[in-house]
Amino acid sequence: MENIKDIIGQKVFETPFIDTHEHLIDEPERLDCLEPLIPCDDWALLLNHYFGFDLVAAGMLKEQADRLFSNRVNPIDKWGIVEKYWPYVNNTASGIVFRHTIKALYGIGDISGDNIAELQSRYEQTRKKGFYQSIIRDTANIRHCHVHSPIVACKQSESPGLLLQDLALNGLIRVAINPYSVPENFQVNCLSDWHALIDWWFMEYGRIAPAVKIGNAYFRKLDFERTEAGEVEKIFTQKIKSQAIDPAEEKKLQDHLFWYSVDKATGYGLPVKLHTGQWAMNNAMNMHWVKDNPADCASLCRKAPDTTFVFFHIGYPHYEEMLSLSKSYANAYMDMCWSWSINPLAAKDFLKKFILTVPNNKIFTFGGDEKIVENITGHAFVARKGIALALTELVSENWITITDALDLVDDLMYKNAEKIFVR
Ligand SMILES: [Zn+2]
Repeated sequence: MENIKDIIGQKVFETPFIDTHEHLIDEPERLDCLEPLIPCDDWALLLNHYFGFDLVAAGMLKEQADRLFSNRVNPIDKWGIVEKYWPYVNNTASGIVFRHTIKALYGIGDISGDNIAELQSRYEQTRKKGFYQSIIRDTANIRHCHVHSPIVACKQSESPGLLLQDLALNGLIRVAINPYSVPENFQVNCLSDWHALIDWWFMEYGRIAPAVKIGNAYFRKLDFERTEAGEVEKIFTQKIKSQAIDPAEEKKLQDHLFWYSVDKATGYGLPVKLHTGQWAMNNAMNMHWVKDNPADCASLCRKAPDTTFVFFHIGYPHYEEMLSLSKSYANAYMDMCWSWSINPLAAKDFLKKFILTVPNNKIFTFGGDEKIVENITGHAFVARKGIALALTELVSENWITITDALDLVDDLMYKNAEKIFVR
């Protein structure tokens, strides 16, 4: 067992990932502390995303969280805000990601009141021009990342070989009239203008984006019905005039724009990535909707057999259903992004079961889903550990041979992504 574990571990830790999902802004924007995405520029920024959600779940008050991520609070004093909660969160996967990150990047084994000044100093030394490339390629051993921009529906990255930008359709489906989805001087008066806007985004970016991304599962069920333009023209006009529309009308409009966009993506040969499962926010998740995600996804697969759907986050916590879905539907692919830092044991369990249940060309095993680049380091470590354990256990339980396990590694970590995301 020990030998199997070492051999598989070595192979997994030497193999690069293609990282299929992050929320990074470009490095110059990070160095300029683009607000509100970069609320502070000190060590606490590493806690600002998933770890922060765990802190709030543990009981941290909003005022405390605001101070923790404030630029006006001395970084050394910030440990005093976290200290009380640290024992409750340092063993969650987010805590483990943080601890591996500071160990790998800063050589700091664990955090305490005694080493905050050192942590801060190492943070500042690391965060400098070129650190994206050094962290992503050299430390995390990732070839490139697919990025869902938190700023705009799509853009050409400053580092197009390192950060490939997905075309994010959330705002276009929800009719969000803001700079996120509507470029300056683009006039929108009727539904056909909005179609033209969607067409414009595809014309601009459809040939360089690796995929489209749809995150609307945070706002509704995934029960998108095919709806004709004529049924929603009036609703659209009311919506852009800020006139009241009822929830059924809102759904109808989104249903129409969802399929307009998905059909367009399919025409461009772009896979459609969908958020499913757990929500990355506190005190809001509608678990009734989440529970229905796998069945709703099956309906989408049936309605668009020519579309390649990539379902995110193993539909956590409903990952058994997602195995069933991808086993049945030829156009259903699974992306394990974020799952390693939601629940690494569930992710390992999912991967073991996936290998024995579903054809193994249909899975992508890593995306950090991070907005702070440093955390990709710890997240990739946790993912590699989980992948190595899953394969080792399958061998030691005599389901597959060590040769089978080693043969799977490249496919799981980058070759499957290379085949499906061709740009
Ligand atoms: Zn995401």
